[in-house]
Amino acid sequence: MRDAWSSHEAWVFECLNCSATWDEDLEARHYGDGHGNQAVVYTRGGLPCTTPWVDRFCPKCQSQNVKALSAVRAGHAEVVKARGGADVAMVYHLRRMHAW
Ligand SMILES: [Zn+2]
Repeated sequence: MRDAWSSHEAWVFECLNCSATWDEDLEARHYGDGHGNQAVVYTRGGLPCTTPWVDRFCPKCQSQNVKALSAVRAGHAEVVKARGGADVAMVYHLRRMHAW
C-alpha cells in the first residue's frame, strides 16, 4: 500500500555573507513506499524544487553561504498568507487521494 501526504512549510533563509533574510512557502510531499522507507519531495507553486537546505543562493549577493531555518511556527504576518496556501495544498491533497 502506497502512502502519500502533504504538509505546508514556511522556511526562512538567512545569508551568512550579507545578512539578507527572505522566506519561501513550500509544500512538502511525503511518500511512503510501503516498505518503511519515506521520501520527501518539495514543491513550490506546484513545481518540484530542491530541498530547502541545498542549492539556495542569496538573491542579493548570489552567495551560496545560506542558512535555512524552518519557520512553521513563526508568529508574524506571513502566517496568514501561509495558511491560504495550506488550504490550496489540502485541496490538491484530497484530489490526489481521491484519484488514487
Ligand atoms: Zn547575501
